[in-house]
Amino acid sequence: MPKHSRKNRDADNAARADLIRALPPIDACIRAAESNPALAGFSRTYLKVMVQRAQAEIRAAILAGRDTLPRARDALVDAVVIAAARAVAAHEPVLAPVVNATGVVLHTNLGRALLAESAIEAVEMAARSAVNLEYDLETGARGDRDSIVEDEICALTGAEAATVVNNNAAAVVLALNSLAEGREVIVSRGEMIEIGGSFRLPDVMSKSGAILREVGTTNRTHPNDYAGAIGPDTALLLKVHPSNYRVVGFTSEVTLEDLVEIGRARGIDVMEDLGAGALIDLTEFGIPREPIVRDRIAAGAAVVTFSGDKLLGGPQAGVIVGRRAALDRIKRNPLKRALRCDKLTLAALSATMRLYLRSKDLGRELPTLRFLGRSVSEIASIAPRAREIVAERLGPGFVVEIVDTSSQVGSGAMPVEELKSVALRVTHPDKSANAIAAMFRRTRIIGRIADDSFILDLRTIDDPAVFAVKLETG
Ligand SMILES: *Cc1c(COP(=O)(O)O)cnc(C)c1O
Repeated sequence: MPKHSRKNRDADNAARADLIRALPPIDACIRAAESNPALAGFSRTYLKVMVQRAQAEIRAAILAGRDTLPRARDALVDAVVIAAARAVAAHEPVLAPVVNATGVVLHTNLGRALLAESAIEAVEMAARSAVNLEYDLETGARGDRDSIVEDEICALTGAEAATVVNNNAAAVVLALNSLAEGREVIVSRGEMIEIGGSFRLPDVMSKSGAILREVGTTNRTHPNDYAGAIGPDTALLLKVHPSNYRVVGFTSEVTLEDLVEIGRARGIDVMEDLGAGALIDLTEFGIPREPIVRDRIAAGAAVVTFSGDKLLGGPQAGVIVGRRAALDRIKRNPLKRALRCDKLTLAALSATMRLYLRSKDLGRELPTLRFLGRSVSEIASIAPRAREIVAERLGPGFVVEIVDTSSQVGSGAMPVEELKSVALRVTHPDKSANAIAAMFRRTRIIGRIADDSFILDLRTIDDPAVFAVKLETG
């Protein structure tokens, strides 16, 4: 290695070591941080952690020879405080309201159902106050948290008993583990589904300890396929609602009624994972038909599971309904304790159920039904104002037009049915659809790309003024 280069390197290293030694002491930085408007109000303990983190970052940058630090002492303190403020901003709670203009009403990544006002009030009450979650007010004895919602769920579904867990995936695991651990569960190959977010039926079943016994083929399964597979190890016949896809063409599936009959002849229960699980006939709200939980119970399913935050329009939860004997086993399973819901979920679910039982205008009070049932003409009626607001905020160059589109229910429900809707199409001669989508995302407005253009579907927009607020404040 040439001599002068070694010398240069030594000089560089010495300069770096000097600079690191010159970094201001932590205490001085914390004092400076306390009077920085972005950091004022945070505890000393937290500021110390953030200042230390900032100093470590700066030290690493110096050692790597890529610092652009000032050499004056005050300026160095400022540099540390700015780095700390950046670290704090990056650790701010990131859950924030966004505008769902994707046209997907139950968007899993955007948190699915919006709650009804009465459910929001119930959550607030439960958050603010101690509640009789597991406490019998009459006797003072320990109560059962299921009792908060069980009567309502049973009234709405016709089931003998019910319980609630964290989500429907948990409901399926818990039910299978309780009823079929170490034993066989017979499922049609046409129902071996994967729902987004890694819910794959074969994986879920193996985690539950049940042994999967596949029958039939992808497109056709017959009653004899099930009957022929039943043996001494069979615990359950399982039917799964293929929420997010349809098998079309030369197909045949065994109906729940037939499955119940096959099971009954051999003393085997039928469980159904219904997924979305409508509680009522949605066609009266102009929404395509989905299987109704009550009908599945009436058809003889011993256990039915469904989500709380899909078509039901409540909080994230998994509801298990069915015969008392099956539910007793499910409730006694220690896994139930690990998968149970908290008071906020139960408060929201109970209030949502009460709306189904009491509301005179469910289609307006439950946001999910209101959005799904909105007619094209109703959506179109807010389009001109929405267009005006967005066009004005975007300024010159952008073209904002009103176009026809179709929305989706989302979260796997009704993948084929499309709901006619109206959208704003936003284009710009020099910007790609992806660039425009990113620009809107920065203001927390989430649209979608359709036919190579960025659109804002208006189905889930109550008041177009929300676009003005977001585009102005970000
Ligand atoms: C959505 C769905 C699930 C998962 O429900 P989560 O509430 O999201 O856990 C399971 N099975 C079916 C058929 C579904 O549609």
